Amino acid sequence: MIQVEEARSIILDQAHPAKTETISISCCLHRVLGQDIIARDNLPPFDKSAMDGYAIRSADTTSASEEKPLELMIQGIQKAGDSTEAPLQPGKVFKIMTGAPIPRGADSVIEFEKVEQVQKSIFLSKHILVGNNIIKQGEEIRSREVALEKGSLIRPAEVGVLASLGYQKLEVYQNPVVALISTGDELVDITSDIGDGKIRDSNQYLLTALLQEQGADVYPIGIVKDQQQSLVKHIQSAFEKADIVITSGGVSVGDYDFVQSALEQIGAQILFQSVAMKPGKPVVFARYQNKLFFGLPGNPLSVFTTFKELVKPAIDKIRGLQSVQEATIPVVLEENLKNNTDRKRYIYVRITSKEGAFYAHSVGSQSSSHLITLTRANGIVIIPAKCESSRKGDIVHGRYLS
Ligand code: AMP
Ligand code: MG
Repeated sequence: MIQVEEARSIILDQAHPAKTETISISCCLHRVLGQDIIARDNLPPFDKSAMDGYAIRSADTTSASEEKPLELMIQGIQKAGDSTEAPLQPGKVFKIMTGAPIPRGADSVIEFEKVEQVQKSIFLSKHILVGNNIIKQGEEIRSREVALEKGSLIRPAEVGVLASLGYQKLEVYQNPVVALISTGDELVDITSDIGDGKIRDSNQYLLTALLQEQGADVYPIGIVKDQQQSLVKHIQSAFEKADIVITSGGVSVGDYDFVQSALEQIGAQILFQSVAMKPGKPVVFARYQNKLFFGLPGNPLSVFTTFKELVKPAIDKIRGLQSVQEATIPVVLEENLKNNTDRKRYIYVRITSKEGAFYAHSVGSQSSSHLITLTRANGIVIIPAKCESSRKGDIVHGRYLS
């Protein structure tokens, strides 16, 4: 049995960033940038007004005061999309709209509501400083600067920046293809009736959802019986289709747990088969022809936990993500939580925040076969091995579930 951190580092040694591909901006959300995005232009491309108001020359306004408001004539209107052909004449102002380029000669903008307009003039009661309400050319990003770094996750904000810079096409890392196999003689398809020893194959759907959330492409193989030869056949055909193969079930020490022997039969290199975590101790990780294999346990809560702790980091790395370590937060326990095992314990909880601190209470049975617990949880707390003293009021590491 190895520690979670060691298991993760063995996995990360075997996982390598995928090749990149060029795609359209319209389908790049949640992909990872496979290139630095260099600004092709200044943003904004010209000095522009941040407000609806009047574009003025600051030096013209030095004499303005409450007692003696200064009258300035309106020379014309400058709206968004106009050019800056007509220069501002001395002692005059342009009425200007938000986003319009600053006319040549003007160096400041005063908001509508801060002046009085009387017919074709405005009256100013104070000196306006240079640069007021002007967004300078290149203030957001300068041409040829790196706007977005390779390895960044593309979120809606990144999509907007790509569009501002004219990137209709861009390079992203390819998504890994992950084949899924559910093992177990007790499993039936979700459309089937249950009872009489049978249960529905929920792991196929749970894992598909987890993989979709993680940006992997899923190749579902389906249910495979607890027979070594059948497993060998399906694992081999899964490897022909996918970069990663994930099975659930069949990795414990039961008489019908054949995943490990199937892997040995095909000549896969098994790198570990047991991790010090609860739920989720029996986990097989193997390498086969430069592809990865995860044999997860069958119990749904174990599937979820081992996926998050061990599979997700591998997928993140293959997808090219730069920083993947999820930060933990200090959480105050609202009840005693014991861990008398020699494994790190993951407890699903409801985290609330009160007056700047985070509090956690358990949301029901933590049995690894109970998935409903997870639906009531919004977070997790992690109790170190043999830490019998985690009591109400203690501060432990926690994390919100995404
Ligand atoms: P195993 O790891 O094969 O010993 O299975 C452990 C438990 O998880 C058993 O109660 C199984 O019935 C259950 N289980 C295994 N595979 C699935 C699945 N695909 N969907 C739901 N439960 C499963
Ligand atoms: Mg089984």
